[in-house]
Amino acid sequence: MEAVQVPIHRIFINGQWVESASGRTYEINNPAHTDQVLGAVQAAVVPDAEAAVEAAHAALKAWAGTPAPQRGAILYKAFELLRDRQDEFARSITLEEGKTLPDAKGEVKRSMNIMEYAAGEGRRMFGYTTPSELTNTVAYTVRRPLGVVAIITPWNFPLAIPAWKIAPALVCGNTLVFKPASSTPLTAVKLVELFEEAGLPPGVLNLVTGPGASVGDCLVNHPKVNGISFTGSTEIGSRLYVQAAETLKKVQCEMGGKNAVIVLADADIDKTLRGVVQGAFGSTGQRCTATSRVIVEESIYEPFIEELIRQTSQLKIGDGMDEGIDVSPTASESQYSKIMEYIGIGTEEGARLAYGGRGLTGPEYDGGYYVEPTIFTDVQEDMRIAQEEIFGPVLTVFKAVDLDDAIRLANSVKFGLSSSIYTHDLSKGFQYVDQVEAGMVHINSPTLGGEVHLPFGGMKASGVGAREQGTEAVNFFSEVVTVYIDYAASRTQAKFI
Ligand code: NAP
Repeated sequence: MEAVQVPIHRIFINGQWVESASGRTYEINNPAHTDQVLGAVQAAVVPDAEAAVEAAHAALKAWAGTPAPQRGAILYKAFELLRDRQDEFARSITLEEGKTLPDAKGEVKRSMNIMEYAAGEGRRMFGYTTPSELTNTVAYTVRRPLGVVAIITPWNFPLAIPAWKIAPALVCGNTLVFKPASSTPLTAVKLVELFEEAGLPPGVLNLVTGPGASVGDCLVNHPKVNGISFTGSTEIGSRLYVQAAETLKKVQCEMGGKNAVIVLADADIDKTLRGVVQGAFGSTGQRCTATSRVIVEESIYEPFIEELIRQTSQLKIGDGMDEGIDVSPTASESQYSKIMEYIGIGTEEGARLAYGGRGLTGPEYDGGYYVEPTIFTDVQEDMRIAQEEIFGPVLTVFKAVDLDDAIRLANSVKFGLSSSIYTHDLSKGFQYVDQVEAGMVHINSPTLGGEVHLPFGGMKASGVGAREQGTEAVNFFSEVVTVYIDYAASRTQAKFI
């Protein structure tokens, strides 16, 4: 049989699609059918990353000098192109990452929102004016770009996370080197093609598809890189944060989570269950905001678990491209192995495997990385499955005596990304908002998602540096310069009070 030719994508440096200096490429497979090769990309190496930084550095002056509304207009064009190609992008995400097509469409929609919003920031690049202490003096602030920024992204949102970093970084006048996750570079290539078509000048956005350990590491250490926007694991993020301090780069790291839902006895149980099941098993639990813990007030613990198991058992598992699928494969072999290992750890630690726990095989599943939605009950807070990020369709259930106990349990992990409470008691809801340690907090809605005009990110081991999205993004991607003008030019000496 004749071998099927797959597209081989190049890296993008200084407005040109070029081969890597390594002369090597690697293939990307569909996680639902691992024998299906989707395409190949360059195995970029350090000299490629260095060339990309040089190109970004060379393009900086002209891009930074382009009026922000004009930069915004190019972003708006990119938004329009994405709007026209929504289905194509959604298919690319599902094929490459494995999430269901409706989830992928949601990711594309969110990316469109981000690009549209960021385009408008070109007309809102506000500073402020304020009275000076000095006579005949005007004092105000302006924004300048950071410079060359490295964009380092994970595989679980191969379009939205790059978009929510690249769009605000560009509108603020920075030039970029984008290093996507090694397992999902194909959607990244499409995104860069989109910006190229939208009219971005050469060198403003560069793409290198290569390993984090070498290419990513080069960007983190490079003296001509002024800022880093990273999303990924806490392990890599915390290491990168230390390294970047050596060259005093401005850094934002969005990292892991162990998000909890608290269910109080007065909650609307039907609505709560829908939120918990969606939060835990939607996108196969591979969202940073996925629900991985549910803390239930003891008076409703048993009936809640019974119904949770019943609803989980009704979820349809299969290829994300098929209709009506709730849970699709995990994204890669390493994801599959890690999740299965944690299921083994939970059982060994003495938690009760109340539902699921198997890797799925058989004609429908062979050749894909499928893990059954899994529920552990009777989980103790010191267990590894209670403390560590599993990042898959595994939910751990805890019993709480009351609200205080529930908040204590919610805060008992090192992470602090997203959190939720289900209750009709507003007083308890507000106590929770005041005390829970999470960057994003929900009352009566799942731990998931966020809106693009509001800050997104976590505290504790989930995030350092400025939040992403909303106006916070402009704060991160720009430097503020304070200006004093003595318009009478009459002073020989500044006299502050
Ligand atoms: P990861 O292993 O930390 O990788 C993230 C990115 O960092 C990848 O592009 C990776 O490249 C790169 N990288 C690896 N080693 C590096 C190094 N030494 N220097 C510079 N870059 C390096 O994370 P992941 O497995 O892709 O993503 C899953 C994690 O992301 C989970 O922990 C999840 O919670 C987190 N996440 C957080 C958020 C949030 O907003 N808080 C959102 C989504 C995901 P390679 O792919 O080549 O290794």
